[in-house]
Amino acid sequence: MSQPILCVAVPTPLYRRFDYLPPAGAAHTTPQPGQRVRVPFGRRSVIGVLLEVVTHSDIEQRKLKRAQAVLDTEPVIGADILAMVSWASRYYQYPVGEAFAAALPGLLRQGQSPEATPRVHWRLTAAGQSVDPATLARAPRQAAVIAALHVHTDGLARAALDAPAAVLHALADKGWIEPLTQAPLPAGAGTGTVRGHALNPAQQAAVDCMRERLDTYQPWLLEGVTGSGKTEVYLTLIEEVLAQQRQTLLLVPEIGLTPQLVSRFQRRFPVPLAVLHSGLSDRERLSAWQQARTGLAPIVIGTRSAVFTPLARPGLLIVDEEHDVSLKQQDGFRYSARDLAVWRARYLDIPVLLGSATPSLESLFNVEQQRYRRLALPERTGVAQLPDYELIDVRHAPLEQGLSAPLRRRIRDHLDADGQVLLFLNRRGFAPTLMCYDCDWVAECRRCDARMTWHHSDNRLHCHHCGSQRPVDTACPACHGRDLHPMGQGTERVEQALAEYYPDVERLRIDRDTTRRKGALGALLERARHGRRQLLLGTQMLAKGHHFPNVTLVGILDADHGLFSTEFRASERMAQLIVQVAGRAGRHDRPGQVLIQTAHPDHPLLQLLVTHGYPAFARAALEERRAARLPPVTHLALLRAEATEADAPVRFLEGVQARISAAAVAGVEAWGPVPATMERRAGRYRAQLLLQSDRRGSLQQLLGDLVRQLEQDRASRQVRWSVDVDPADTY
Ligand SMILES: [Zn+2]
Ligand SMILES: [Zn+2]
Repeated sequence: MSQPILCVAVPTPLYRRFDYLPPAGAAHTTPQPGQRVRVPFGRRSVIGVLLEVVTHSDIEQRKLKRAQAVLDTEPVIGADILAMVSWASRYYQYPVGEAFAAALPGLLRQGQSPEATPRVHWRLTAAGQSVDPATLARAPRQAAVIAALHVHTDGLARAALDAPAAVLHALADKGWIEPLTQAPLPAGAGTGTVRGHALNPAQQAAVDCMRERLDTYQPWLLEGVTGSGKTEVYLTLIEEVLAQQRQTLLLVPEIGLTPQLVSRFQRRFPVPLAVLHSGLSDRERLSAWQQARTGLAPIVIGTRSAVFTPLARPGLLIVDEEHDVSLKQQDGFRYSARDLAVWRARYLDIPVLLGSATPSLESLFNVEQQRYRRLALPERTGVAQLPDYELIDVRHAPLEQGLSAPLRRRIRDHLDADGQVLLFLNRRGFAPTLMCYDCDWVAECRRCDARMTWHHSDNRLHCHHCGSQRPVDTACPACHGRDLHPMGQGTERVEQALAEYYPDVERLRIDRDTTRRKGALGALLERARHGRRQLLLGTQMLAKGHHFPNVTLVGILDADHGLFSTEFRASERMAQLIVQVAGRAGRHDRPGQVLIQTAHPDHPLLQLLVTHGYPAFARAALEERRAARLPPVTHLALLRAEATEADAPVRFLEGVQARISAAAVAGVEAWGPVPATMERRAGRYRAQLLLQSDRRGSLQQLLGDLVRQLEQDRASRQVRWSVDVDPADTY
């Protein structure tokens, strides 16, 4: 009798899977799919994932190598993740072994056991309960842990405590805290959970609709205006799912995963939360993953890659801010976490809830096609009102350091009335470029087709595309003149202007430069939440999901970027950002006002947005897409190539184009190749070829064949190439 053959996903950039014989001496047990296996690969030994056990290989049995060991006694990857990652590797045209590597915590890729994680819950000991955190003034991090555990008497997960291991161990050594040998069990609904607010009628209707169908696959789009209480709907549904002893996985954009969100969940549900985000150590990531997998954590919250987290008793998937571009991975394994969540929910036959104040046109189109069902929260909770919009025509109100006179006056009025003002500018640094007034030279990156941004804090020029920097030029390299000036505004420069105009007012700047340090964002947001008579200035970090109850005026300093971009999604993004930023205003008892500076106040989409709101904008934008045969009405894939030699990428893509013509797959069109909008980045030249089709299946068939041909082709080794299916950006 022939031996079973193990089909293994091996972490390598090759697209296919690899066949092995079972390890010697393992004849009595058949390995199971989802277990990790150590296999010889070339001259190395690597850890792969067993995909399938079959009886036949295309390779002769005597040529097959033997696997070295099966690492797990049971599958570490469940059937749903196994199926989803296998499907995603085909759909997104990414090597299956590397797709699985992306889906597994690093320590598991290195062969560690998922069980060998340390205890991760801590609670106060009897001695600790009598410690007053105020007596620990000289050890603020220890004091914070003690204070948190005083509130959460059942204990808290390591991740929720946000303290380094050394701090916890110091407290344990003093006998004040102890690790929990057994994490608290999931509490049923109502038992021990803090009751939420009473739901308003729209929230209640949304909950009731979903409650009817909690035991079956159904994608829901929860379209709730900013401040309408989407999170309260999530919490109520989670409570329901918890009562059924099932788990919820909540995906949020990276920026949305603030300590406030986690503590809100922690307050509501005194059960272990598994929290997964990019800031975790390998050890923390594995233990959160394991808590989800064993069911110890009934609620799992995470950013994009958390969609791969195994769940012992899956009950509900939620994707918050489903329109957010950060849910789509932009390099390597270019998956959409939102779309995978929907796929996984269908496989598991459970509901999936997509929430947003500004849904993607994709999801709205799916509602139109009756694939998703829509739930609406049209009103803000409590007494809060939606803000009023007003456009400032900067052709007639010239900007001084980025601020027009009408905006400056209005800022003063709101500050005088004890209001908080939020200013939005999606450009960090001091000035987006440095210019010579004598000869019009501008400072450009030497490695990219892009301008350098002047940063005041270190007085250097930074390239935001490749990260290179250099000192600010003191003389013009072209004409040797000394008349060099910053052009345009970044957040640093506007902050300086605000200091001149409003010297007596506290300013908080929130962008990537002011939040690099761990905990800095949380601290700034905390100050912003309680601020009155305060100026907040920031990039899109400030726009999303945060609740600033005292903001009465929002100023959008430059709305025009999205109106005339070559990127077809730019206007959708602009509208989403404007609505999200505007949504920070008037969230409490005071009405909010939104001022938008633009040189194109008559632009039809902008007009529609400010007079009739996002739904009207979205309908018009969707009609434009339909007319232009662009997604979501059709499907796109982008082939990108880059090389150090200038002509190589276009030449390579011309060859690809020829193959596509030869394949003549009906209904697929190829556009290009063309050089990328920024042709040179980080010293490499880039080009792209766009594929478009009315039918996803045709596009998939073509891509699958193409990728396998390119893998074999010598010419494809002259360039770096990649495939982006459903690209978020087409430049
Ligand atoms: Zn010059
Ligand atoms: Zn650069």
